[in-house]
Amino acid sequence: MNPAEKLLRELIALPSVNPAFLSAQHPNAGEKRVADFLCATAASAGLDVQFADALPGRPNLLVRLAPPGKIKQRILLAPHLDTVNSTPEGFVPTRKGDRLYGRGACDTKGCVAAMLSAVIALANGKTRPAETEIIFAGLIDEECGQTGSRALADSGFKADLAIVGEPTENKIVTAHKGSLWLKLETRGKSAHGARPELGINAVHEMARIIDLLQTKYAAQLKKRRHPLLGNATISVGTVNGGSQPNIVPNHCVMTADRRSLPGETEASIRRELQALLRAAKLKAQIGKSKAHSGLPMETNFKLPLVQQFFRTIGQTKPVGVDYFCDASILSKGGTPSIVFGPGNIAQAHTIDEWISIKSLERGTAMLHNFLQSLP
Ligand SMILES: [Zn+2]
Repeated sequence: MNPAEKLLRELIALPSVNPAFLSAQHPNAGEKRVADFLCATAASAGLDVQFADALPGRPNLLVRLAPPGKIKQRILLAPHLDTVNSTPEGFVPTRKGDRLYGRGACDTKGCVAAMLSAVIALANGKTRPAETEIIFAGLIDEECGQTGSRALADSGFKADLAIVGEPTENKIVTAHKGSLWLKLETRGKSAHGARPELGINAVHEMARIIDLLQTKYAAQLKKRRHPLLGNATISVGTVNGGSQPNIVPNHCVMTADRRSLPGETEASIRRELQALLRAAKLKAQIGKSKAHSGLPMETNFKLPLVQQFFRTIGQTKPVGVDYFCDASILSKGGTPSIVFGPGNIAQAHTIDEWISIKSLERGTAMLHNFLQSLP
């Protein structure tokens, strides 16, 4: 069995469900079990290992392959260790033909297995890069608050290139959209339902706003296009207002998901929405429903290290994806980041998550070849 498949099977059998989706005491919660196992695996291959603080009891794992010579550059391989929740069967790796089923198979224990196997193969091989330090970081909490990548970036850690592990079908992704969770609130005036003319209906005001966002604003965003990412979008997700039928509601809250393009900021989106509401004579307080908003990411694909990776795997054009990941955070922290890994995002978070073993093996070989090509 290919070492990456063997490692992936072991990882699937060790639950590491993000505690946000379970009670903290649940035996399947947390990344520690997987981090300890990877730590032991890497240490027995002769690699330097270290835990780095992220959340209490949930450290990031850092594995290092030091070059024999003076360090001139540093490459970071950064997949996440947490998964979404699963039924018990999800923790039993099952092979059917080319597919290996199990929770995390593609998102992203497949990337963990590919990246660490590539580093171990390099450590065991005859030659390793003479002046390039390679760091593998097993990050926690990507599926919820991205605390792992934030902690790493906040610690001042920087690399010349970060390859963030997500299932991209072994394509180099240089851009992804941002995700801003907006929260809009309208205020009205309560009155008896029999005398609505005495009140101001906050739900009706919100209904007009929702209509405006889903029609005029959405059409406006459709025209705003990025060559790799297509257009920005807005989608109203929840709406809550009023307490009972016979009271004119004085308050309504709506949340929406705004997917942004490189160049758009939280402030620019807020300003744009304020102008839109003002022009339509509508009023709402605009805030956000999540402490950290996901910023869009775009890395220059002409950077020499990115170009070298392109050449190694025979890719000619950069690719963009819709989803947000740790690459945005590492990139904002000063490390040029790309996303790469085996598997297809279509299988992520599904009940019967799987990865193609061919894709896993190919991805591992591509990473190994790239790392080996470095000076
Ligand atoms: Zn993921």
